[in-house]
Amino acid sequence: MTAHAQQETLSFQAEVKQLLNIVVHSLYSNKEIFLRELISNASDASDKLRFEGLTDSALYESDPDLKIKVSFNEKDRTITISDNGIGMSREEVVDNLGTIAKSGTREFLARLSGDQKKDAHLIGQFGVGFYSAFVVADKVTVITRRAGLTSDHGVKWESNGEGAYTIENVEKKSRGTDIILHLREGEDEFLNDWRLRTIIKKYSDHISLPIMMHKLPDPEKKDEASKTLEWEAVNDATALWTLPKSQITDEQYKETYKHIAHDFEAPLAWSHNKVEGGNLDYISLLYIPAQAPFDLWNRERQHGLKLYVQRVFIMDQVEQFMPNYLRFIRGIVDTNALPLNISREILQDNPTMTKLRAALVKRVLELLEKTAKDEPEKYSKFWEQFGNVLKEGPAEDFANRTKVAKLLRFASTHTDSVLQNVSLDDYIARMKPEQKKIYYVTAESFSAAKSSPHLEIFRKNNIEVLLLSDRIDEWFVNHLNEYEGKTLQSVAKGDLNLDEITTSENAANKEEQKKAEEKAKQDFDSVIKQVKTILGDQVKDVRLSHRLTNSPACLVADDNDMGLQLQRLLKAAGQEVAEIKPIFELNPDNQLVRNLRSEADDERFKELTHILFDQAILTEGGQLKDPAAYVQRINKFLLELGG
Ligand code: ADP
Repeated sequence: MTAHAQQETLSFQAEVKQLLNIVVHSLYSNKEIFLRELISNASDASDKLRFEGLTDSALYESDPDLKIKVSFNEKDRTITISDNGIGMSREEVVDNLGTIAKSGTREFLARLSGDQKKDAHLIGQFGVGFYSAFVVADKVTVITRRAGLTSDHGVKWESNGEGAYTIENVEKKSRGTDIILHLREGEDEFLNDWRLRTIIKKYSDHISLPIMMHKLPDPEKKDEASKTLEWEAVNDATALWTLPKSQITDEQYKETYKHIAHDFEAPLAWSHNKVEGGNLDYISLLYIPAQAPFDLWNRERQHGLKLYVQRVFIMDQVEQFMPNYLRFIRGIVDTNALPLNISREILQDNPTMTKLRAALVKRVLELLEKTAKDEPEKYSKFWEQFGNVLKEGPAEDFANRTKVAKLLRFASTHTDSVLQNVSLDDYIARMKPEQKKIYYVTAESFSAAKSSPHLEIFRKNNIEVLLLSDRIDEWFVNHLNEYEGKTLQSVAKGDLNLDEITTSENAANKEEQKKAEEKAKQDFDSVIKQVKTILGDQVKDVRLSHRLTNSPACLVADDNDMGLQLQRLLKAAGQEVAEIKPIFELNPDNQLVRNLRSEADDERFKELTHILFDQAILTEGGQLKDPAAYVQRINKFLLELGG
């Protein structure tokens, strides 16, 4: 394509059309943020130029003073936001303004409800950036040129934000981008110097570049000279993180977050630190978002912190600063300890990076701990959004395993509430004197966990059990074997040590109980043998249960075997899992099991055994190999009842 290509009309990618439509409608009540978004983009574009300029100073084209200009024209009803940043080539304009590259976009858009308030909230998570221009404008013109290209490589893009846009090459002398908003009918409030200045001060004061507007004419001076318009900076133009904490307001912290994270919502909490002297000189400003981004679980999603070296922006989304389980943290690191010409590759195994990362992770964990301690409600909100990500911590970050474990929250039988608000420390504080382990049950849903038959003996003895029902739980408990010297023990695994579970209140009964167990063992000896024969290689073993008080039977995994829940998850994920057989436990106090003992008819004994076994699979959340056979057996018994 030659530089002076013909004007083309191109259609927006379907997702862009949809997004534009939602943006215009759902952001209507907060229109003024368009300016913040466009200034934020202009600032990013200048950061990029500064970075590329480190290795190619020709890009500056003898115009080294980076700035953003905001102006308006009452007669044409336009607002123009100009920058002399990196600019865009024709191809970049098509890619950046005509398509959305983020993966998962379609799924995200499908989730929007059509309810404007709710969608505004969700759209914020997505980050609408440039498209917010269409909230106040019914036509947007972008004139841009990539730094370093000749002036005939300017590009003009124009759209009314409906289905299509036009693009053509134009002359553009200065590098960078002008965004011209042709205001919608009724948006004239923005054609006002004071209004625009107020918005800039409010949202963009901390942007490190000067944001310029025309000086207001001095009413005293009526001579010709005063008619030539001069520019002046409206904002403070110092990077916020370089200021002392005492000079920064909460509002400023919040606005900086919105700029850094491209998020519409204020953050939940932040931590601002300056470490000077020594060999690890850095400033960090780390934020916990209030909302999980829509693609938090997307593996390809980029995350990470913004890196500045000696105040110069180097790169975005530096993943090496944060482990995966803290991938939701946003913020910036500004350091003197790395060279200006650092590249992504070098970051990979740079010893300073390793030190910085350890220091930053410590900051984040401290921030979380402090929030959990001082602001438990805020922490609950955090947990709701990011708890499942944090649970990856014990596996990923061995060194900080205990610190992370301290931050975890669970549902438990203490409240039987679905809310996850019990910490391991809370649990330990409530442990019985004889109790040595932290007990948990895993299940596919909260209600399945809560009503698991494995809990019966624990409930009876008033011993708390953590109710784990998130997908990640099975995996995470495999990596957190102990906490503060206490083993984490699945109630569905191995042989339970009854001495530990039956509490001192029942101590007097203990002897009696032992005797009763001995007797039951003898009484049911032949039942156990018969059941073993009937179930054959479907089970690893059959034995009497110490777990159950009401239910007739349950399945248990052997101590060293993989939990049943985990087996199921791995299979669902398409992984090959060697068949691990469960142990089938029968409750001698249950009437159905007693009936087995007195059953004279071999056929009925067999049928009842199969029913009990299948039921144990079902309560476990498992699937029957032959559900029809189960139904037939049950119906046969029901008919007998009826007759
Ligand atoms: P985001 O900024 O979140 O990536 P936007 O929709 O705001 O999304 O912008 C899309 C892309 O368009 C940006 O990533 C950037 O590459 C480009 N862009 C937007 N504004 C400018 C600008 N003023 N100068 C250069 N590039 C820009």
